[in-house]
Amino acid sequence: MSIVKLNLGSDATPVAAQKQTLLTLIVPVFNEQTAIGPFLDAINPILDRMKPAIATEILFVNDGSRDGTEFVIRSFMEGNPTVRLVNLSRNFGKEAALCAGLEHARGDAVIPVDVDLQDEPTIIPEMVEKWQKGAQIVNARRSDRSTDSWAKRNTARAFYRTFNVLADHPMPSDVGDFRLLDRQVVEVLRTMGERVRLNKALFSWVGFTTDEVTFVRQARTQGRTSMNYWRLWGMALDGIIGSTTKPLRIWTYLGTGLGILSMLYATYIFLNTLIFGVDVPGYASLILLILTFGGLNLFAIGILGEYIGRILTEVRGRPLFVVRSTYGAED
Ligand code: UDP
Ligand code: MG
Repeated sequence: MSIVKLNLGSDATPVAAQKQTLLTLIVPVFNEQTAIGPFLDAINPILDRMKPAIATEILFVNDGSRDGTEFVIRSFMEGNPTVRLVNLSRNFGKEAALCAGLEHARGDAVIPVDVDLQDEPTIIPEMVEKWQKGAQIVNARRSDRSTDSWAKRNTARAFYRTFNVLADHPMPSDVGDFRLLDRQVVEVLRTMGERVRLNKALFSWVGFTTDEVTFVRQARTQGRTSMNYWRLWGMALDGIIGSTTKPLRIWTYLGTGLGILSMLYATYIFLNTLIFGVDVPGYASLILLILTFGGLNLFAIGILGEYIGRILTEVRGRPLFVVRSTYGAED
């Protein structure tokens, strides 16, 4: 019997049996009817250039758009099997839409991309190249935020600083959701069922070999941002509270410190009163202490509330998103 020596690929699969590598672009969309055409126009030539080594699917997650987004996507899907669509039953927010994308993506690697072309599509081949060289996560770092407003730049910087001081595991600043994730990473992320989540914090929490490419973030080309500061503040809180319990622990130490100081002060007042008698004036110190401790108490209760509210959300265990319908490929 003759033994045929097979030419084995790096993952020990016979070359002939290796299937084409599939890359999934996850594109969450919310009221983006004007942005879809320009997005596909910009992205298709780039994806074409990577063929035939890399096949791609563009997976739109329609996050409850109330305009013609679904109609526009479905019209682009005619005769184009690379485009797929997942419709959510209402607007669940970008984080949930991304999770729906991770759930439905079939690629060997996935890249979440914003539809507004703020995530520079021309660097995708570079990200894929680094992935093929062995990185399982390839971050796209914004080397320049000058297209963001002064307020956005500074609030973002403050957020990354605070997050990295408090969180158990730091996250790279100026890297958004736009990054390449290997299938193995996606599988880990899919097991992380937390409802309250900031995906980019989880993307760095999972570890794995990480590389990065840089790009200059452009201003939005079509439509308007749906992320106002109130929403960003909510996301920042979710991210921090989901990544650390330090804000709870601070009160143990602060409380202990203040307790010791209070006892010393109480001893002083007690002895002072015994030796020198009752000291009637004292309104100022009294009101100051009441206000300070009252404020601190409320603040600490507020922090507790932030955690308890999120525990409730997790315990209820509602799904993170609800799919109304899916179109494309297998459907
Ligand atoms: N998006 C979404 N659901 C939302 C809000 C936004 O799917 O509730 C999508 C949006 O269509 C876009 C991406 O998330 O593709 C980024 O949104 P946007 O450009 O408004 O955010 P910014 O770039 O200002 O942070
Ligand atoms: Mg944007």
